[in-house]
Amino acid sequence: MARNQEHMLETTLSAIVARAAAEIAQAVRENIADEVARMVQGEGGLLRKRRVILCPVPDCGRPGGGPKWGWFCRDHKDLPPAEQERARRATRSRLASPAPDPN
Ligand SMILES: [Zn+2]
Repeated sequence: MARNQEHMLETTLSAIVARAAAEIAQAVRENIADEVARMVQGEGGLLRKRRVILCPVPDCGRPGGGPKWGWFCRDHKDLPPAEQERARRATRSRLASPAPDPN
């Protein structure tokens, strides 16, 4: 009987240890997942760095020069503010409405 109790204790302990190990593994996985998500999507994250914001001038197609140029490219950053505003508005309406059917 004593041996049986010992065996049961062992079984119980290994079950606890196994569960704890699984929980630790899960916690670590979640931590890593959080960390990766932060790296990919977060402020200054990989995704943010890699996402290319194009110059708002229609048909320019060059990558914008960053927030300090209002995302205009090197060639268009010196456009007069009125021109830049018009370009931004044109881009916004182009993005907001679906492209017209060519037929
Ligand atoms: Zn441009």
